Amino acid sequence: MSKIIISIDGYSSCGKSSTAKQVAEKLGYQYIDTGAMYRAVTLYFLQNHISLSNPREVAGALEKIEIEFRPNKEGKSDTFLNGLNVEAEIRKLYVADQVSEVAAIGEVRRAMVKQQQRMGRRKGFVLDGRDIGTVVFPDAELKIFMNADPLVRARRRQEELMEKGELIDFDDILENIRKRDIIDTTRAESPLRQAPDAYELDTTYMTLDEQVERVVLLADSVISLQLSASPDHDQKADG
Ligand code: C5P
Repeated sequence: MSKIIISIDGYSSCGKSSTAKQVAEKLGYQYIDTGAMYRAVTLYFLQNHISLSNPREVAGALEKIEIEFRPNKEGKSDTFLNGLNVEAEIRKLYVADQVSEVAAIGEVRRAMVKQQQRMGRRKGFVLDGRDIGTVVFPDAELKIFMNADPLVRARRRQEELMEKGELIDFDDILENIRKRDIIDTTRAESPLRQAPDAYELDTTYMTLDEQVERVVLLADSVISLQLSASPDHDQKADG
């Protein structure tokens, strides 16, 4: 069975990670949450008082950071920073508040991109982020670019945080989303852009099930096209 790489890029809280997780599950692929990696780096920087404007401190800290994803009891993947489960901590607003500034640092991006390329070396991966289809895997066989109305995104994020027991003011979440949009799209290093060959998915009026169904359908058609174009397929058809 032919396996592909699926990149899901786009703005924060459009449903990228929920969609990517379920698509990976349905296809039997592995999921990589690249945002979690930038969040883990941010947590380390905050805990160790790393000055973002000091390149030597940043480089030194990056050498000490090891990020892994390990499956938990519910079969979901948890983020580990230097052997510690930081899954809950990296989702908090104080980390979200700093993450885009950390992710804008060239040195940080280069280290994360290298690690992501290593993780997804084999096919059969769904990665979500901001630069997957443009920088990390520009040859990904299926690229999705997600967008949605900022108010809808803020409401979704608020519900998500509420489920985790965090009651955060709607306006604070909206402000964080808007701030991250600006930093993510205007930074010098690999800013958030839609790859020219990406499918745009506006999820404002879509349910999660609809988003997953759409991406799985697109993946199925890419995989069948690949199969029909492979030399093996021709031989079978000839024989
Ligand atoms: O996807 P998530 O919202 O968890 O990402 C957190 C932040 O990490 C984003 O706002 C963005 O600044 C950064 N990020 C990035 N490149 C990626 C993934 C995330 O710059 N591939």
